[in-house]
Amino acid sequence: MISVGEALADLFALVRPTEQETVPLLDASGRVLAEDATARRDQPPFDASAMDGYALIGDEADLHAQFKIIGESAAGRAFAGKVKPGHAVRIFTGAPLPQGASRVVIQEDIERRGDLITIASAQSGGANIRPQGNDFSVGTVVSAPRRLRPEDLALLAAMNIGQVPVHRKPVVALISTGDELVMPGEDPGPDQIIASNSFGLHAMLAAWGAAPRLLPIARDNRESLETAFRLAEGADLIVTIGGASVGDHDIVGDVAESMGLERSFYKIAIRPGKPLMAGRMGNAAMVGLPGNPVSAMVCARVFLAPMIRTMLGLGAEPAENQIAILTHDLAANGPREHYQRAWVENGRITVASRQDSALLSVLADTNALAISPPNAEARPAGSQIRYIPY
Ligand code: AMP
Ligand code: MG
Repeated sequence: MISVGEALADLFALVRPTEQETVPLLDASGRVLAEDATARRDQPPFDASAMDGYALIGDEADLHAQFKIIGESAAGRAFAGKVKPGHAVRIFTGAPLPQGASRVVIQEDIERRGDLITIASAQSGGANIRPQGNDFSVGTVVSAPRRLRPEDLALLAAMNIGQVPVHRKPVVALISTGDELVMPGEDPGPDQIIASNSFGLHAMLAAWGAAPRLLPIARDNRESLETAFRLAEGADLIVTIGGASVGDHDIVGDVAESMGLERSFYKIAIRPGKPLMAGRMGNAAMVGLPGNPVSAMVCARVFLAPMIRTMLGLGAEPAENQIAILTHDLAANGPREHYQRAWVENGRITVASRQDSALLSVLADTNALAISPPNAEARPAGSQIRYIPY
């Protein structure tokens, strides 16, 4: 058995970042920027008014001073002329500041009679002007790699960047295996169960930025598994579920090897999920997840998520984890790294009392995996513990 860290190193060696493709900004949400993007203009592109009011020469903005209105500057329609002493231009938020003006007096501080205005409140503080390039200027860089959030997309749009280079979504073929499995919604026989974790895995992979393909369920025989592996051709990553233990019907490893799998490892010192295999199959990486629903989902968070991040060019790092405070005592751990279903709220973590790796209801009622390293000592309530959130 190898450690979780060693397994991750082997898994990272099986994958590399996908190539780039260019997508329009509207399709770029959640994608990973593959190259630095550079602003193509200043923002604001001109000195702009920050308020609705009157643009005039700042030095003249004394209490009771009078000005003649000579025109208007609105957003998208600048005033073409120049502001001279004693002049003011009606101006609105976002509109270009007219030449010669150096201050915007807000309309609340003005008394207006026809074409004449009087400053009715003493002016202090800022000039109510957003200087050109105040937000960003030509050449400002949005650096890659980065997973594009709505905030990034708004910034890129403002930079007049209409399309961006992103890493292609890694294609992940998902193969459920088992004679007992039927799809949700079908009529199961008395000795059948519903394929479940494949749906959880599909959703997680999509959320992480991969393109998952759920293949038809493979039965526990060579022919059916071979068909499934052939259908998986072209995928960047092939993930099998189940059939990877040592039972008579666990033939995924044998069949994969007969089809060219070069195995990196089999069995990791982790709970749940010990029987996990991985290797290279042609151009694809292959990971064989255990079939137990919770084991498969936990191993996906611990192993598949970092692989997908690597394929998206985000670097090779273990799953993102955080620290919380235990609300109760936690027993010492055995020799395998333990990922226990837990509930985290306001920085405090409570480990679920039932940890059987077949309990999907417990998984769904929790939001974190509490991590206990191999042979960790017992920890009292109040201790810090690492966890992976979900
Ligand atoms: P296996 O690793 O094939 O021996 O499967 C271990 C356990 O997980 C068995 O109880 C299987 O019925 C169950 N199992 C395997 N694959 C799935 C799946 N896709 N969805 C739900 N349960 C599964
Ligand atoms: Mg099976």
